[in-house]
Amino acid sequence: MLTRPLFIGSEIYRRSRYGGKHPLAIPRVSAAIDLCRALGWLPDEVYIDSPTAGLEQLARFHDRGYIAAVMRAEAEQTVDDETARRYNIGRNGNPVFGEVFRRPATACGGSLRAAELLRDGGIVYSPAGGTHHGRRDRASGFCYFNDPVLAILALLDQGLQRVLYVDVDAHHGDGVEAAFVGESRVLTISVHQEDLWPRTGKVEDRGEGSARNLPVPAGLNDSELAYLVDEAVLPLAGRFRPEALVLQGGADALADDPLSGGVLSNRALWAAVAALSGIAPRLLVLGGGGYNPWSVARAWTGVWATLNRIEIPDTLPTAAEEVLRGLSWNRRYDGKLPERWFATLADPANPGPVRERVKAVAAAAIA
Ligand SMILES: [Zn+2]
Repeated sequence: MLTRPLFIGSEIYRRSRYGGKHPLAIPRVSAAIDLCRALGWLPDEVYIDSPTAGLEQLARFHDRGYIAAVMRAEAEQTVDDETARRYNIGRNGNPVFGEVFRRPATACGGSLRAAELLRDGGIVYSPAGGTHHGRRDRASGFCYFNDPVLAILALLDQGLQRVLYVDVDAHHGDGVEAAFVGESRVLTISVHQEDLWPRTGKVEDRGEGSARNLPVPAGLNDSELAYLVDEAVLPLAGRFRPEALVLQGGADALADDPLSGGVLSNRALWAAVAALSGIAPRLLVLGGGGYNPWSVARAWTGVWATLNRIEIPDTLPTAAEEVLRGLSWNRRYDGKLPERWFATLADPANPGPVRERVKAVAAAAIA
């Protein structure tokens, strides 16, 4: 049993870039690590350098021909048309870049290491994980491999009978849901914006009993996320009695994110993490989407604080502020960047009315 939460990271996320204007060509994990360190929240004793998953580990879920194709893409820095078409690499937001194999394989290695560390219970945070769109034999939605699936399989391989996966990313956790259709030892719950890619995850789609979907309209506010957690996720978890929870904590439903229509504050994300953190003896928290470097770094640093029950300061000390001022974004931003992106960790709360549609989705999911 782990005596305190552990943080799995790697310097590969600092060095590697998806390239050019790709939404993921921004500092995320490295920024969160730097910010946590600047705040004194990440002593060396709790930081684990992520291993890189090898072929055999990845093949627990992924197709060997596909794994070989990603390795070859990294070695050759290009893919032929047949490979691009067959495996969806080098197109559709899944570029060939310098570490196109090692980077996602490291995210998988981190999540697999987390599953090992959680064998007897505890909390592990692996913000590089959460690549929930990856498919068995193809890349999808910026995801080459699927580390949540590998972590869940590793937990099942330890003998666990009930593993809960909760996904609060703005996008449907389609790859994880698909991997466990009909698997009675796994329950996947995805809260996502209904009109976003990949447009799957309808409320009536239940993955032969292994999935619940909570598709919500754009503009989900803090009160609505809390409502969904209290009225749907927690009741479902209570019935399932998970031995482990894998929580995908994508930051792309937050108001400052450029890719979704969310209006959530990061406080709402932290509240969801806090509400779910006690429901299983093993907790693996992952990252996920998030395409504004300041928003992601602040949100994920706050997730780590939440797991450690550290109180969030109102304003950041100079060293932490300097980390945030040192970040850059490849996106044009009209006007001046808001001062709170540098000087604070917590966003202003954004409570609001709980819309009827949100209530209906919650009711349908638990029915
Ligand atoms: Zn997303």
